[in-house]
Amino acid sequence: MPAVELLRGGCVVCRSRGPALCAPCLRRTEPPPSTRMRDLGRVHALFAYEGHGARIVQALKYRDGRRLVAPLADELARRWAEVAPAAPGLAVTWVPTSGGRRRDRGFDQSELLARALARRLGASARPLLRRRPGPAQTGLDRAGREAAAGYLATARTGGPVLLLDDVCTTGATLRAASAALAGAGSPPIGHLVLARTP
Ligand SMILES: [Zn+2]
Repeated sequence: MPAVELLRGGCVVCRSRGPALCAPCLRRTEPPPSTRMRDLGRVHALFAYEGHGARIVQALKYRDGRRLVAPLADELARRWAEVAPAAPGLAVTWVPTSGGRRRDRGFDQSELLARALARRLGASARPLLRRRPGPAQTGLDRAGREAAAGYLATARTGGPVLLLDDVCTTGATLRAASAALAGAGSPPIGHLVLARTP
């Protein structure tokens, strides 16, 4: 971690003094769209991917995102508790970021979020998915990348699985990852994302 990241404090989004994600920035996000998605049912999101919600996700991915993991995991845990009954033996898994992006950033934001969320839920974090090797996706827009995404489930769990991703646009990524888990005998009991496109 670069030293400057350790020294820099305050809200990652608006730079105000205080916590890594200030309450006003979180309040300024728009509520997520609540439509059901084909083959997925309801996808639970913290906020819409626009305005402040988009700025939070961009900060998580491209700036000093590690500092956002704890406050966002707090919010994800709260959201999950609102929508799902406690599930003994729950495993949290995540849609893995591509190797290149992970190398550029030095971390996979979805993995960090999943591990922090699992701790808050008293669940385990399990890397159950990997990306299927495929053509390079640079040059495609987000919807194109989602449509081209393919995932393999590398393991199964005996218990319930919660699938986490950062942004849901068309749902194609979640659908591909969810289908891979189902094919391995571990269909997710729920899908949780930070942000959904309106
Ligand atoms: Zn702020």
